[in-house]
Amino acid sequence: MNFDELVKHIKNDGCRIHIYRSRMFIGDAVGTFQDAECGPIIFLATKGWSKAKFTRFLLHEYGHYLQWKDKFWHNIWSVCEAEDIWQRWITYKIELTPIEHQAARNSQLWSEWDAEMRGYNQGKALNIYRFNSKVYLKSALSYMASIKWGWENRKSWNISIPIKHIKNPRILTIDELYAPLTTKELAATKFIK
Ligand SMILES: [Zn+2]
Repeated sequence: MNFDELVKHIKNDGCRIHIYRSRMFIGDAVGTFQDAECGPIIFLATKGWSKAKFTRFLLHEYGHYLQWKDKFWHNIWSVCEAEDIWQRWITYKIELTPIEHQAARNSQLWSEWDAEMRGYNQGKALNIYRFNSKVYLKSALSYMASIKWGWENRKSWNISIPIKHIKNPRILTIDELYAPLTTKELAATKFIK
């Protein structure tokens, strides 16, 4: 299945997709899923990204749609509005106790990792053209590290951080997902603004 067929597949599955012919939109976002009043919708920016890359972004957002479809999305946000808390916390509109901080961080990691795993499984199941499991996992691990870094440093990140030490990307256990960044990971983390 190629990119256009994937777009068609997701639309047939009940989710609208709006593609921007730009590199980014809404701040630094490349892809986003929204539970809008008029129904679920995915926004995706494609300009300047390789097809393999924006196909990966689309698979991730499709993962969020699948969360929405089976109510995981509603359940997790009813426990903790992590995304909203994150936005208000990094802009210093709210302060968090260590327990609240941990809860919001872990909820965000949980929901993003779950979306990554759904996207990963779809990439394989739908036999996406040139889908590379290793590259997908590497990018997913890098994204999780970015989230951790952001919660650690109270700063937003720019798309992704290259973490060059990932040699054997694999599916994380839940303990590994929630674990703080290791010294080695921090040393290999380089932010480009
Ligand atoms: Zn996401």
